[in-house]
Amino acid sequence: MTQKKKNIAIIGSGLVGSLLAIYLKRYGHQITVFDRRPDIRNVEFSGRSINLAMSNRGWNALKAVGIEEEIKKIAIPLDKRAMHVIGKEQYFQKYGKDGEAIWSISRGVLNRRMIDLAEKNGVEFRFEEKVWDINLPEAKVYTGETEKGEWIEYPFDLVFGCDGAFSRVRHKMQRRSRFDYSQDFIDVGYKELTIPANEDGSHKLDKNSFHIWPRGKFMFIAMPNLDGSFTCTLFMPFEGDVSFESLKTKKEAVEFFNTYFPNVKDDIENLTEDFFKNPTSAMVTMKCYPWSYWDKVALVGDSAHAVVPFYGQGMNAGFEDIFVLDEIIQELGDDWQRIFEVYQEKRKPNADAIAELSYRNFVEMSSKTADLNFLLQKKIEKHFAAKHPDKWVPAYSRVTFSNRPYVEALAEGDAQEKIMQEVMKIPGITEKWDSKEVEDYMLDLLK
Ligand SMILES: Cc1cc2nc3c(=O)[nH]c(=O)nc-3n(C[C@H](O)[C@H](O)[C@H](O)COP(=O)(O)OP(=O)(O)OC[C@H]3O[C@@H](n4cnc5c(N)ncnc54)[C@H](O)[C@@H]3O)c2cc1C
Repeated sequence: MTQKKKNIAIIGSGLVGSLLAIYLKRYGHQITVFDRRPDIRNVEFSGRSINLAMSNRGWNALKAVGIEEEIKKIAIPLDKRAMHVIGKEQYFQKYGKDGEAIWSISRGVLNRRMIDLAEKNGVEFRFEEKVWDINLPEAKVYTGETEKGEWIEYPFDLVFGCDGAFSRVRHKMQRRSRFDYSQDFIDVGYKELTIPANEDGSHKLDKNSFHIWPRGKFMFIAMPNLDGSFTCTLFMPFEGDVSFESLKTKKEAVEFFNTYFPNVKDDIENLTEDFFKNPTSAMVTMKCYPWSYWDKVALVGDSAHAVVPFYGQGMNAGFEDIFVLDEIIQELGDDWQRIFEVYQEKRKPNADAIAELSYRNFVEMSSKTADLNFLLQKKIEKHFAAKHPDKWVPAYSRVTFSNRPYVEALAEGDAQEKIMQEVMKIPGITEKWDSKEVEDYMLDLLK
């Protein structure tokens, strides 16, 4: 479908804004991307490499603009979890069927590559230019040095807010009547730390695994980088017995790592140094609606739906927004009002579903991993899924390795939970959890 050429602004050159620019440029529009930050391609590499997990939905969106293969070359496939449980040898949990993997990729490398590609195709980038205000009905963008200083006015036909969880564009929409908005911070924060490479540049832990050290209220994870290092994230309550607040001195931090993460002892110097150097960040679920204003302004990515990162889906969901928006554009052509309406109607329930799934995963990880009933339930589900892979697809696989809507994964997960509640009531379930009787009962309930 061809489109009338429009003058379009995208606010935010992050992962979502830069990919959206590539998509929209294919229709021949004039596109200007604003970002308050400097050009990420010129920012000196800080030595810290932040990575993300890319899964099916993300790859799907990159494939449509022909960069999937190229980006895969600089990503590391992780086909399993490596579990580091206290008192046990490291063990592995395969993600799914053969060939199913999530991919560890550097956020910076991906972002730079997409900005390059967008620019090569004629997108204009205006870095270090912060957007302070938007005139919604007229699609005008205002930038400037300071909020109270002089602003430059830019007229556009359409504006896309891809300016992240604390979006300025959304902020403006919030002041309209009947705009729903909520934000919920969790009481757990995170800190990024690094495990450096071996001297010969090899990885210190298995390179093709997503490493997890579950410790109940807190958790440590690590994902590999191409240079042999691992980017680790420590998730921990802000306050309380074992918390960011409670670790004040180097001695306390060393003791903490020694006690809870004995197999990363060799890197304790590095970890404790990072611990005091790197910021502690908060995590938020943000929901809002509508996501658009007339035929002028639309929100895409975190600006429309920020989720806590426990499913590794924030970016994937943002990329899927773009993929779906593009399908609608192809169908509806120039009717931007209708395009935006269909886009938000289609995506909002899915954004809510992945927000819910991500939050539930957080609750599971932080409070249920020590619950014996919960662990037994998970064991039964796993056992059954291995025997009947076509009948019991775990929610994780539906979210991560398929492109079916998130709402389906949530609904299916709820249906499975209902069945499991019945199964857990079977007298003597602890002993006969892997019996034929339980299996038949589950098959029966599935009918
Ligand atoms: C700890 C953690 C781990 C995560 N891990 C994963 C993962 O493994 N997989 C996954 O899929 N997702 C993950 N996510 C989520 C992912 O990071 C986000 O969903 C994704 O970055 C959203 O991209 P975005 O472009 O919408 O927003 P952002 O990345 O926030 O980009 C917004 C851009 O807008 C610019 N901007 C903001 N305000 C203005 C303004 N007023 N004027 C001009 N420019 C502005 C900013 O400078 C920025 O460049 C994780 C998130 C966290 C916090």
